[in-house]
Amino acid sequence: MVELKTDAAIDAMREAGRVVAHALAAARTAATVGIRLSDLDDAAATVIREAGARPVFQHYKPSWAPTPFPAVTCLSVNDTIVHGIPDRYRLRDGDLLSIDCGAELDGWTGDAATSFTVGTPHPADQQLITTAEQALTAAITAAQPGARIGDISAAISHVSRTAGYGIPHGFGGHGIGRHMHEDPAVPNDGRPRRGFPLRPGLVLALEPMLIAGGTDHHQTAPNGWALHTSDGSRAAHVEHTIAITTHGPRILTLP
Ligand code: MG
Ligand code: MG
Repeated sequence: MVELKTDAAIDAMREAGRVVAHALAAARTAATVGIRLSDLDDAAATVIREAGARPVFQHYKPSWAPTPFPAVTCLSVNDTIVHGIPDRYRLRDGDLLSIDCGAELDGWTGDAATSFTVGTPHPADQQLITTAEQALTAAITAAQPGARIGDISAAISHVSRTAGYGIPHGFGGHGIGRHMHEDPAVPNDGRPRRGFPLRPGLVLALEPMLIAGGTDHHQTAPNGWALHTSDGSRAAHVEHTIAITTHGPRILTLP
């Protein structure tokens, strides 16, 4: 069931989204060569706690997961696409890191992700990250009242495929509100003018995931959570929570 949000609810979700943006910024600032992933998770957790919010990833257990998620952020390094578990790995120069974070404030949820290089960037990684950001921008631009979910999906796949990157099957964006994952699903690949119509009040998390090697194949790590590229190539993931309004898309997860 798809729930349309009131203007007041969207304003409340903006505040939850702001907490997520600040948590992402804190983790990103802390992400220097030699620091442990668990320390970045702690940095995000501190921001969320001090804002009076709740980290929604922690203890989250979707039907396919073997265990509840043990951390506040998903930290995905290099060939990890999404759902990396923060551990004691120390970041190395040139690592491609994706940080995904969600928080609930006053009963409303925000969800966002960013990808960047730690230390010295590889040009190929910069191209991958830039394309992921362009795919997200295209997705947001497509999220106009009167359009459909398929227009968002097609925008993401067009930008990604044109650049030669793969898109992992079975993972994508989602409705969001009182819960992190609500209807409708927002696939990262699809056909324009198909799917659920975009009406004012619909709030969506849009999240392109790109695989550098160009294949769509992926595999799940032994921990049952982390999603890796099958070819060992690197991946990037970016995400914003947005609301469809009569004036167009409104990004809720900016600082
Ligand atoms: Mg997310
Ligand atoms: Mg999401």
